[in-house]
Amino acid sequence: MATIFSRIAAGEIPSYKVAENDKFFAFLDINPVAPGHVLVIPKKEESYIFNLEDNEYAEFTLFAKRVAAAVEKAMPCKRIGVCVIGLEVPHAHIHLIPLRTEADMDFRKPKMTLPAEEMQEIAAKIAAEFK
Ligand code: AMP
Repeated sequence: MATIFSRIAAGEIPSYKVAENDKFFAFLDINPVAPGHVLVIPKKEESYIFNLEDNEYAEFTLFAKRVAAAVEKAMPCKRIGVCVIGLEVPHAHIHLIPLRTEADMDFRKPKMTLPAEEMQEIAAKIAAEFK
């Protein structure tokens, strides 16, 4: 059965898309730890990022680097934090998090739910900066 993230990449489940090419897709985390929290996924179904072939892993991280540059331009922050968890959704993904303080990477904090209009606005800003 397709993972929820495959269905998002296929457009079957709505998401706040920020970037896409033929192999990868990036969208806002629905319950961000900080505004502008993005998930980057390969369209190919692979449950665990470190099971990707070397060339796929390299391409994936290079795509994530381009997305990170866009997030950094679009969101007020000092740095973009990068993290792999994967305990909840069995589809490889990289979390990109705009950081103002170290605490913005704390996944134990209650996660946010932002209004749809704000999510839309953030996604549009990031998408506009994606090169
Ligand atoms: P993890 O697998 O532990 O890295 O966590 C999965 C992340 O995906 C969590 O931060 C969730 O908030 C996020 N998430 C789950 N479902 C969706 C969805 N439909 N759209 C956007 N983000 C999601």
